Amino acid sequence: MARANAAYYAGRDPFADFITAPEISQMFGEILGAWVAVTWQGMGRPVPFALVEAGPGRGTLMADMMRLLARVAPDCHDAARVHLVELSPRLRDVQQAALAGRTAHPVTWHDRIEDVPEGAVILLANEFLDALAIRQFVRTADGWAERFVQGPAFVTQPASDLPPGPFDRPVPCGEILECCPDALAVARHVAARLCRAPGTALFVDYGYDGAVWGDTLQALRDGQPAWPLADPGLADLTAHVDFAAFAAAVRDGGAVCHGSVTQGALLGALGLFARAEQLARNRAPGEAYAIRDAAQRLAAPDRMGRLFKALAITSPGLPVPPGFALP
Ligand code: SAH
Repeated sequence: MARANAAYYAGRDPFADFITAPEISQMFGEILGAWVAVTWQGMGRPVPFALVEAGPGRGTLMADMMRLLARVAPDCHDAARVHLVELSPRLRDVQQAALAGRTAHPVTWHDRIEDVPEGAVILLANEFLDALAIRQFVRTADGWAERFVQGPAFVTQPASDLPPGPFDRPVPCGEILECCPDALAVARHVAARLCRAPGTALFVDYGYDGAVWGDTLQALRDGQPAWPLADPGLADLTAHVDFAAFAAAVRDGGAVCHGSVTQGALLGALGLFARAEQLARNRAPGEAYAIRDAAQRLAAPDRMGRLFKALAITSPGLPVPPGFALP
């Protein structure tokens, strides 16, 4: 599954199949740009610092953040060394074009988060974790079995060794538990890094938070749901992110978790609706409607607002990041 998804991102324009928050509206990147500026201040304004995005897609989020920072927080803008973690050469080209003229220093690309140089860091990742390959385990009367892909079908075999994961959950017989070893490795790496140097990370993705289970593997091809095992490399394969397991791995690594909170709560707390009204002012009615509708699409519970969640991670001793204080 991992290889099928790498082939997919390398070979196709994924944004023909789905639309992500930064592509819905510039407001998403502007709001998170302001979040970066305040977070940077809370970290003691380190100069320089690595501004890292994992899985930047078309580069829209980073471009919108940098435009906002140049305007309202030029010190932060100039201190930022932008690092992008992206495997797809084709998307790297798109990102380079999106960021041309937007950064004070050259942008650096990496294959893996682990390759970003040490030091003060602010890391963001929107819809990155959901693209990482999962493993699926089935609870049986005799213990755990693992689901494998064989040709166009799933087969189940007794699990010989279990990876680290949430296997202590009270999963009923016949039900599926997913775990994402690559996401847990990211969690452990980020936690260790934030224990060595001041840093804050923000992961936004669709997923669940709690002791839950179930099959969430899904495929989208040409914008339509598809059978996940048909035509490897031609459909986008994703799974919901298990924020509880991710946060547990972060805490085990010694860093501090804030949230998760829903995307709607985060963007609302950070001023999404005020920004929408500001942008809508003096616009033609159709344009004003589109701006307000985009804000609703990002934040309303029955649209992206509840399914999408945000988890912030900080070095021990740093302030709670904006939008994550308990009400
Ligand atoms: N954050 C963007 C794109 C989300 S799509 C947005 O919100 O629009 C997922 C992104 O992660 C793509 O850029 C894809 O190429 C990248 N990606 C997927 N798996 C990856 C991996 N293992 N390592 C690095 N990047 C990966």
